[in-house]
Amino acid sequence: MQNLNFINGRWCQSLSGETLPVTDPASEENYAEIPRSGAAEVDAAVQAAEAALAAGWRRTTGAQRARLLRAIAAGIQQQAGALAELEVRDCGKPITEARYDMSDAVACFEYYAGLAEALDGQQGTPVEVSDPRFEVKLRHEPAGVVGLIVPWNFPLVNAAWKVAPALAAGCTVVLKPSELASLTTLRLARIAEEAGLPAGVLNVVCGLGSECGAAVAAHPGIAKVSFTGGTESGRKVMQARANLIGDLALELGGKSAMIVFDDVDLDHAVEWILMGSMYNQGQVCAATSRVLVQDSIFDALLEKLRHAVQGLRVGAGLDDSTQVGPLISAAQRERVAALVRQGVEQGARLLCGGEAPGQLDKGYFYLPTVALDVSRDNVLWREEVFGPVLCVARFGNEAQAIELANDSRYGLAAAVLSDDGERRERVAAQLVAGIVWANCSGPAFIQAPWGGVKQSGFRRGLGEWGMHEFLELKQVTTYTSADAWGHFNAR
Ligand code: NAD
Repeated sequence: MQNLNFINGRWCQSLSGETLPVTDPASEENYAEIPRSGAAEVDAAVQAAEAALAAGWRRTTGAQRARLLRAIAAGIQQQAGALAELEVRDCGKPITEARYDMSDAVACFEYYAGLAEALDGQQGTPVEVSDPRFEVKLRHEPAGVVGLIVPWNFPLVNAAWKVAPALAAGCTVVLKPSELASLTTLRLARIAEEAGLPAGVLNVVCGLGSECGAAVAAHPGIAKVSFTGGTESGRKVMQARANLIGDLALELGGKSAMIVFDDVDLDHAVEWILMGSMYNQGQVCAATSRVLVQDSIFDALLEKLRHAVQGLRVGAGLDDSTQVGPLISAAQRERVAALVRQGVEQGARLLCGGEAPGQLDKGYFYLPTVALDVSRDNVLWREEVFGPVLCVARFGNEAQAIELANDSRYGLAAAVLSDDGERRERVAAQLVAGIVWANCSGPAFIQAPWGGVKQSGFRRGLGEWGMHEFLELKQVTTYTSADAWGHFNAR
């Protein structure tokens, strides 16, 4: 199947005919191409989205939109096996994780179908005001045309997390997938087309961030941009939106800490550390990348962790037994390797990993890596690595642990492991992060808010908050008294 942009219900090449290669990270083979689009294609997509909104999408009921969202969910479900395999070829992740992603995407469209339906009953909610002659009612109205920019680490899931709430809210969409993993997003557009979504409601434009993504961020016809990606790209998007006074939600990177107190079961702790740090090769915005361990269990936990990390099965994502697949690209592996080299130069000591696996001669693999003696000014402590690289440090007491955990410019997620429930709550309240996991690390639920603080971004995706990101709140105020208002002496 040829991979084309989806604009106004039509499948089309970029205007220049230029393409970008699609590479399998496990074999390094270029096996497909996507269009290399820019401002002109984005403009066509925005015009199509504006026309679709005016032609009737804005006036659909939540119940009508819910039917379409459920049809999209059913379409993903039907093709889940093939989509999971395509996701693995596109971004390298283990097939077991890709299968989970597909069920997450299905659940996401179903969940927002329910919220779209419920929205119908929430229109016209009264607000009590201080003057009884006035009646104030609230309306939730679609923001308009929205621009959705997503990364490559959970390609279909990230698209679903934004497209489903935007459509539920009654917006029309210009979606820009990552140039490194666009294929399942294009399949999503095909599924939406087959589900009967009107032309122009969902448009997908492929291309580079600096060209296509930048054009989405700077387009005056886009009422709101929802961006998920790196902090540096987020800064550029914010600058472009500032020129337009344009609304924006940012979900950016992280450097999340996990605090492990000495009352935990060590084997359980190791499992959650692996889940937090090695899932999707550590290419997770909320990945646990700094583990803080209480002094008295430090050596014992480290020994178990080393054993578990070295036992992880590294290989091609399509192999069912693989636990750690390749990184997304040669550039990403080089970036990870360079950060580890720099970290070692700055005094870190590697417990394991720190190189590509010897037995795999093709693919962008990098061994799961644990770094010790990482000082607070070390690059491995401060920078998001976005790979299977974990720092482990020790702490003495609770106050020190919290201080270390909060020592970051990021604030996406944090975790605390302890058998003491009161301590977990106390610590959770003091961690500066949008998400705190207690006695676990990594789970994301469609019903719960997702997003960070500090340089991890602002606003919340998922849950009802995710849909309200795409709704504008309007007040309709009616003067209900028979008496003249009288301020200007009207008779
Ligand atoms: P990236 O910032 O390079 O790219 C993300 C998307 O933005 C891509 O579609 C890209 O083409 C586009 N883009 C790049 N530069 C742009 C620009 N100047 N203007 C507009 N769009 C632009 O990030 P990535 O490498 O694809 O993904 C990894 C990053 O994403 C990590 O930092 C990770 O933490 C973050 N992330 C955050 C979340 C979250 O929920 N907070 C989720 C997943 C990934």
